[in-house]
Parts: sequence; structure tokens; C-alpha cells
Amino acid sequence: MSAPIVSRDPHTGQTLKTFSPATAQEISDAYARARAAQAQWSQFSLRRRLQFVSNLSENLLHHADELIQIISSENGKPRFEALANEILPVADTCKFLRKVAPRALRDREIKLSLMKHKRSYLHPQPLGVVLIISPWNYPFLLPMGEILPAVVAGNAVVFKPSEVTTWIGVKIQELFDQSGFPPHLVQTVVGDGAVGSALIDQKPAKVFFTGSVATGRRVMMKAAESLTPVNLELGGKDPMIILQDADLDLATSAALWGGFSNAGQMCSSVERILVHDKVREEFTGLLLEKARTLTHSKEGAAHYEIGAITLDRQKSIYASQIDEAHAQGAKFLLGGDFKPADRAMVPTLVSGDGIESLSIYNEETFGPVIAITGFSTPAEAVKKANQSHYGLNAYLYTRNLGLGEALAKQLEAGSVLINEVAYTAGLPETPWGGVKESGFGRSHSELGLMECVHLKHIHRPRNLFPTLKSPWWFPYSPFQYATFRALLRTYHQRLPDRVKAFAETIWNAVKMLKKEPRL
Ligand code: NAD
Repeated sequence: MSAPIVSRDPHTGQTLKTFSPATAQEISDAYARARAAQAQWSQFSLRRRLQFVSNLSENLLHHADELIQIISSENGKPRFEALANEILPVADTCKFLRKVAPRALRDREIKLSLMKHKRSYLHPQPLGVVLIISPWNYPFLLPMGEILPAVVAGNAVVFKPSEVTTWIGVKIQELFDQSGFPPHLVQTVVGDGAVGSALIDQKPAKVFFTGSVATGRRVMMKAAESLTPVNLELGGKDPMIILQDADLDLATSAALWGGFSNAGQMCSSVERILVHDKVREEFTGLLLEKARTLTHSKEGAAHYEIGAITLDRQKSIYASQIDEAHAQGAKFLLGGDFKPADRAMVPTLVSGDGIESLSIYNEETFGPVIAITGFSTPAEAVKKANQSHYGLNAYLYTRNLGLGEALAKQLEAGSVLINEVAYTAGLPETPWGGVKESGFGRSHSELGLMECVHLKHIHRPRNLFPTLKSPWWFPYSPFQYATFRALLRTYHQRLPDRVKAFAETIWNAVKMLKKEPRL
């Protein structure tokens, strides 16, 4: 019997709930039930499916306070963040899907230039049973942002929440059940990485994985055994570039929220700041001043900005990056005295010569830590920002939007935000995903919806009469060769050549059909 999965309050370490991990039999039963549910669900009209999404949206509003409470207590984040960054964007996703799915999931006509007598179109078809594996940092927003489009597109979902946030994961299935979705269409399967791996062995139609680069690699290797396609939403070390002309009050406030909301446990957190040498001192002073005003979670406090460290495992990453930085003489402007026994971490700002060679600047911290460095030209800023094996988001602060856009195009990132930070993870309309080791595939937006379907190509004659045998079929002959040779010449640039070649093509084709009917 595997160890129970324990949901704890990261502020206190107190047990909130205990769950049994799924057994091998339960995993295979979950898939069997999901397959049966999907067969029925995929026959429902899109309109009917979207009616269930409306029900869910109503239920979400009805249960919002309870869900906020669970998210906040199990994850350690402020209640405001659970409301604004998890519940609200999911309500917006329901609205978005109701509006966009009818157009996005329509058959799409393909215009054929040569084969005018044929018709081709793309028919979006559900994939089947998809597996969604999620992390703990946004335990409601992230899975819901993938489960909702998956079911709207006609799929069933097997969902494995992080073992750290199982309680809210179980609530997600309840939400679908309460909203009248067919039983077993969305099933939460409880467990750790071993359960996640066993779920991939069941050959889902696709795996949507969000988590660390290391696990993403393992997931992809496992999925490769059965050639199961994967979407990978992985980690980041997102840079924020502050150009010389930036509004420093705006930029420092953005850096503060982008670096320290969710206690820095955000894949698109500002983890590196690259600031123009001429404004570096002023920027850093202002940022420091603001960072000092942030309040920490204390047991029972209703409002605070910096919550608890959700996962104990993260603490050793913080400690080792901070220790190395101290040993290499980095300069801590704030923080830097973190001890692994601490349940929360003060916002930490680190700088100094040589910072760019340290792990605190190069590897994902996933905590409230920002490493600051300088640059002297926009080109140098782009070069430094791109010096990373990650490529999730990048941020730019400037008053020159034209320059901002030109630089945005050179940055190696899935999204570049100008004079904004991180928040598009909560926008249902815009795509989310990375490049390089931050992963591939897109969630949210119409692109995310299209990840949940197979675009089947259907090709048919426009009319039944006349149904001709195709001229490239057997037998091969000199007439046939001459016809196709003339056809090739119709692609010439000059109009007279094309007209001549076209006449020749028709002439040869008629001869071929008259003298040598196709077999
Ligand atoms: P993690 O990789 O440790 O775990 C993620 C999920 O994978 C969990 O549910 C876990 O149980 C499961 N898992 C672990 N081993 C597995 C295996 N061998 N096979 C299948 N599943 C397995 O990540 P985490 O600590 O939960 O989350 C933090 C990471 O997630 C950070 O790196 C962060 O940047 C990343 N993240 C990325 C995004 C994004 O959208 N790009 C969003 C949030 C978090």
C-alpha cells in the first residue's frame, strides 16, 4: 500500500486532509470509465456541451468562497490571489469558450487552386481521453485552463493534481459533477509522480503536462514509448528589461508584483532584471523601498502580500542558490538570510559583479528572489535576456513602444509583454506557452482549444457527375508525360508562356483521354 497523500497548510504544516493514492486497478478503471463517457459525450452537440459549461460557471460563482478558502489554505497564497488569479480567470475562460468555440470548432474549408472539382476541409474531431497533469502553484487556474477546452472539444479528461494540492484537485471533479456533466467525464486521480507515470502507461490520446523541466523530460520519454503526443508547459527564468526611458515608478511596481506575487512561485515570475546602467541606481533604490513595505503571512492575518513557501522541496533550492551567491560575493540588497526551517521567505533582491555566472541568476528559483544586473545598450539587453535555456515570458519597460516591439521580436520567449508583467496567464484569449526548455504547445486562446482536437482532413468530389479517373493514374504513357510536362510550364512567370502551356495541357489531356482511357 503506497503512502497516503497528505494535504497540509504550508503556513503551519498542519494536516488539512488525507487521501489514498490511486491503485493500478483504479487507474485502469478510471480510463475504462472515461472512454465510455467520452464516446457518449462526443455525440452531444457543441451547443449542449457549452450549456454544461454555463452550469459550471454558475456553480463556480456559487462556491467561490469555499474554493478560495481551500486554495489559500492548501497552497499558502493570499485569499486575494486565489480570487483574482485563479477563480476570476476561470469564470472568464467559461465565457470565452462559450463565445469562441462555435466558430473555432467549425469545419474549415481549404481552397484548392488546381483541383477545382474537389472539395477539401478540416473537421475538428475530439482526441478521446486526454491526461492532464498539473503542478501545485496555481492548483485551480492551471488545470481548469486545460480541462475546460478539452471537454468543450469533446474529450474526456483524466486529471492528476499535484500531490501537494490534492484537496482542490478533488474539488475540481466535484465541480464538474455538480454541474451535470456526465459521470466520469472528468475524473481526478490522486497520487504522486509514480501515479502520473502509470497514467501515461494507459495510453491517453494526449498528455497535457505542466511542471518542471526535469519532470517534463521524464513525461516526454514515457509518452514516447507509446508515441503519445505531449504538450509541455515548463519552467522559466523570465527576464524584465528596463530601458533608459522607462517609467521607473511603473516598472518597479511591476517588478514587485511580477517577482513576488504567489511568493515568487510562478512559472512566469520576474526572476532576472536587466536595467540600463544609467537608471540602475534609481531603479534599484525605488524597488528596494517598495519591497520593504510588503507584508508577510502570519497565522490568522487576513491580508498580506507574501504567502508561505508551498513546497518543502523548494527550500533546499533557495538555500543552495543563496549560499552559492554569498560564497561568490554577491550583494544582497534585501533578504539573503533564508533558513530551510522558515515557512516563508522575505522578498530577496540580489545583485553585484559576477551575478550573471551564478545559479541564482541562471536557474529557476521559483521563489521570491530577483537577481539584478545591468546593460548599456538595448542590443546588449536582448543578448543577455536570451542567454538562458528557458524561454517562457519576457518583459520590457520603455516609453518607446516602437522600440519595445522591435526588441520584443528579438526576444526568445513564448510571450513578450511591454509595460506589463506575467498577468496574461489569466487571459483566456491569449496563448500561453514557451520556447526552448520552457516547453512547447500552447494552452488558452483559440490555439489552446485547437490542441484538444485532431484536425481531420476530408476530401471529396464536389459533385457525383462526372466522376473522372485521375489523369496521373495508370497507364503511364508518352501522352500522359507530355500533358504533365505542359502543366508544369503553366507555372512560368510570363503570361504568354502560361497561356501557351495551358492550351497544350488541355490538348494533350484530351488526346490522352481519347486514345488511352485510364485503367
Ligand atoms: P513537478 O514537475 O515536480 O510536478 C508536476 C506534476 O507532475 C505533479 O502533479 C507531479 O506529481 C507530476 N509528476 C512528477 N513526476 C512525474 C512522472 N515521472 N510522470 C508523470 N507525472 C509526474 O513540478 P511542481 O513542483 O509541481 O511545479 C513547479 C514547476 O512547474 C516549476 O518548474 C514551474 O515553473 C512549472 N510551471 C510551469 C507552468 C507553465 O505554464 N509553463 C505553470 C506552472 C508551473
